[in-house]
Amino acid sequence: MGRVPGTAFFPSFANFRRDSWRATCQVVRTMPYQPAATRYDNPALYRRCGRSGLRLPALSLGLWHNFGDTDDFANSRALVLRAFDLGITHFDIANNYGPPPGSAERNFGRMLQADLAAHRDELIISSKAGYLMWDGPYGEWGSRKYVLASLDQSLQRLGLDYVDIFYSHRPDPETPLEETMGALAHAVRAGKAIYVGLSNYNPEQTARAAQLLRELGTPCLIHQPKYHMFERTPERGLLDVLAREGIGCIPFCPLAQGLLTNRYLNGIPADSRAAHDPRFLKPEDITPARVAQIRQLNALAQARGQSLAQMSLAWVLRQPAVTTALIGASKVSQIEDNLGAVKNLKFAPEELAAIDGILG
Ligand code: NDP
Repeated sequence: MGRVPGTAFFPSFANFRRDSWRATCQVVRTMPYQPAATRYDNPALYRRCGRSGLRLPALSLGLWHNFGDTDDFANSRALVLRAFDLGITHFDIANNYGPPPGSAERNFGRMLQADLAAHRDELIISSKAGYLMWDGPYGEWGSRKYVLASLDQSLQRLGLDYVDIFYSHRPDPETPLEETMGALAHAVRAGKAIYVGLSNYNPEQTARAAQLLRELGTPCLIHQPKYHMFERTPERGLLDVLAREGIGCIPFCPLAQGLLTNRYLNGIPADSRAAHDPRFLKPEDITPARVAQIRQLNALAQARGQSLAQMSLAWVLRQPAVTTALIGASKVSQIEDNLGAVKNLKFAPEELAAIDGILG
């Protein structure tokens, strides 16, 4: 630490000032987090999830990227706390998020304990099981053995007694659907989850799973598909099934991992996902043709008075079946920008036609 101002001629006083300065820094560092009193000032932010009693914020924060042990914990914590201050009550995670797998749950667990313990009942926390977590035949997919063991491990890492939503992360082609759905229902009966959800199930699998879950007395709350302007598969049947079944929809990667923002308009910035963590968004996917589309979409967003990120989020939220868009963020400013989307969720038919034209 540098010299404390105004102490040059009084060494003992200087020591006192320095010690008290250090103590102040310590207090600031360990001061308990106080959420913003204004966080629920916008009740219109919350939208009913299907035909359930639960309302979710129009934007939810996912912890897939930027929450692992390889990331800066202070930044991860700032993202979560700023989101909560702005009214985002839903945080989505999975057993395998990291890297390494499990570390995102552990890091989020630290925040829950240190900062958010007093607010547990204000939070909707989801986790999932489906992808590889441990060696041997019981470490992935949809067997009752794996699903329930994975949930116990997630709860331990999160430091929670229950999650609010527990998902089957992907359909298992080899395990009877009855078994996987039975495991989800068991988690609810055991008090380890409040609601259950499905992710990456196609329309037929979703309809069958919904029927089974209804029979088991634990109706499916929500479905998590990949849905954004460049990935419109859910429009071919899934959204209809969800509307018919009264299941909410939480599209993941609504910004196409950052492609549908101003991030890649002029090259690949060093601090972007494509540059520093290209596991799932590869620089070679950012082709000149893609960038040309993004630039046209950006011009359209500007004409609407929105950032491209805001227009892309409004575009998924325009679907009546969609409850909340599941965003990721690497910076607090991105969450702030994205929340601006809710100021204009309406599209004129000509705007939708123009978007379709750009997307081809
Ligand atoms: P997005 O499509 O929202 O992409 C997030 C990225 O976009 C950020 O990391 C950031 O990129 C960039 N970004 C976000 N906002 C802005 C902004 N306003 N301006 C500029 N750039 C912005 O979502 P993710 O791909 O992160 O996925 C979201 C969540 O979906 C995950 O955390 C997870 O919870 C869930 N998910 C579920 C899956 C499943 O199988 N069920 C699979 C994948 C994800 P940068 O880092 O470059 O700054």
